[in-house]
Amino acid sequence: MPKYLITSALPYANGPIHFGHIAGAYLPADIFTRFLRQNGEDALYICGTDEHGVAITIGAEKAGVPYQQYVDGHHKTIKAFFDKLNIRFDHFSRTTLPEHFPLCQEFFLDLHKKGFIKPAVEPQFFCVKCNRFLADRYVTGACPKCGAGEVRGDECTKCGEWLEPSKIISPSCKVCGGKPEIREVTQYFLDLTAFAPRLKEWLGAKTDWKPNVRNKALSMIEEGLVQRSITRELTWGVPVPLPEAAGKVLYVWFDAPIGYISATMEWAKLKGEPEAWKDWWQNKDSKLIHFIGKDNIIFHTIIWPAMLMGQDKPWILPDNVPGNEFYNLENRKFSKSEGWYIDTDDFFSKYAVDALRYAIASNGPETADSQFLWEDFAARNNELADTLGNLVNRCFSFMKKNFDGKIPAAGELKPEDKALLDGMAPAFAETGAFYRTYKVRQAVARAMALAMAANKYVNDTAPWALRKTDIVRCATVLNVASRAIINAAILLYPVIPDTALKILAKAGLPPGDKAPAFKPWEGSLDGLALGEDASLLFTKILPEQVKTEVEKLKGMAEAAQAAK
Ligand SMILES: [Zn+2]
Ligand SMILES: [Zn+2]
Repeated sequence: MPKYLITSALPYANGPIHFGHIAGAYLPADIFTRFLRQNGEDALYICGTDEHGVAITIGAEKAGVPYQQYVDGHHKTIKAFFDKLNIRFDHFSRTTLPEHFPLCQEFFLDLHKKGFIKPAVEPQFFCVKCNRFLADRYVTGACPKCGAGEVRGDECTKCGEWLEPSKIISPSCKVCGGKPEIREVTQYFLDLTAFAPRLKEWLGAKTDWKPNVRNKALSMIEEGLVQRSITRELTWGVPVPLPEAAGKVLYVWFDAPIGYISATMEWAKLKGEPEAWKDWWQNKDSKLIHFIGKDNIIFHTIIWPAMLMGQDKPWILPDNVPGNEFYNLENRKFSKSEGWYIDTDDFFSKYAVDALRYAIASNGPETADSQFLWEDFAARNNELADTLGNLVNRCFSFMKKNFDGKIPAAGELKPEDKALLDGMAPAFAETGAFYRTYKVRQAVARAMALAMAANKYVNDTAPWALRKTDIVRCATVLNVASRAIINAAILLYPVIPDTALKILAKAGLPPGDKAPAFKPWEGSLDGLALGEDASLLFTKILPEQVKTEVEKLKGMAEAAQAAK
């Protein structure tokens, strides 16, 4: 039986993350992992913060704090945010941990020894005033490819092109604003050209990948791969392990993906089985799944696989790279500096975590950009309240009142009962197939279809009216409806785990925070004593609240604009 090693892109420890990140690389991975566990499959979910690179050194310098202290703070904040959203990693590590450095250096040396990493002299920007080389984001200017201004030295935020820092047009120093001069310096280059045929063959066989991910990777190979510099003149990072390269560190994008492995090593060590990581990374039965946003496609489909291919060690290659598009906020990119964001403390003081998970999952950026709209969020929340919440509440409170707090035994089944019950197995088969192929939007819709069918069934059969006229029929309807409710909860568990477990507890099923098996509930419900909890699952969001939230967002953006 295969086992699944699941990763989410390592977030940069240089600021809080937002719902856009969650929609791209985290919630889909958490849902996938939970679904696998429901099926009794072996899964390990690994992530951690990416704590090197110029985004971090610039941030720390601006904040006037030491680099380590800076990343410590952000690591904590980011971890707390994932906890809040119930994103359950098996291990959440960081790339400044001790295991990480020797492993990165080993990667470098192996590839260097095999001739895939070579030194070359290249022109580089140097700021005389600051007395340093301007690596990556220390230089800004115009993109040589699309012409966009104010782009970062290593990456165009407009066209997504990965840039060689010295190619920027009209460069200026990010720190002092001065015009840098060009100096010659030796850097080390990863020879991607050597991997082109193997990468092409490997990607060619990945017909089950999302077309956007695979096509982008293949078109990059078609355009021609080049040698990419993987070292920088910086003090913060993993030192290049060659005596002649003193003062250089590995480029953050060389060290970051290795963080997936070192995090797994740390997980194994903490578990008391220090070699256990090999069973995930060097085992051909292990399937490596990288959840990412589309801005990370090149790294996970070209550079990282090349780094793994270029060694004699039995590394597995990514089995799939479910890359998502971008998720925006009310028609614009999330941006804290522009005041276009959601204050998450405020958000969670008013709204349910599962409502957010459900809203994102129902409308995730799987094949095209999508966005968080307050109106849509309210509609999704209210859909949960009206369909699932209302169904649970009216059935369970009715049984509490009229059937001694128990699910009554069913009498003879009528065709409408059988129709609902016969729909359970197909609902599981179809929803499961969607979860397994990263089609969360469709999985949610299919699972909700069962909840809607159950609602309609209860409306049509009207057990409240039957209570006085036909108590046996009334009992039968409630028994069948209870089974549908339980199954809807199991189907939706990956998306709304807390709510699903709460529903199962309300139904009187054994408590626990374990994933319920992904199959129709088979046990008898006759006489099952309902749980004590009578709280409502969801509170409806009113149109006035939506209006207030949108106005608040606009106000924050105006204030940010005025402050500039
Ligand atoms: Zn560009
Ligand atoms: Zn400068």
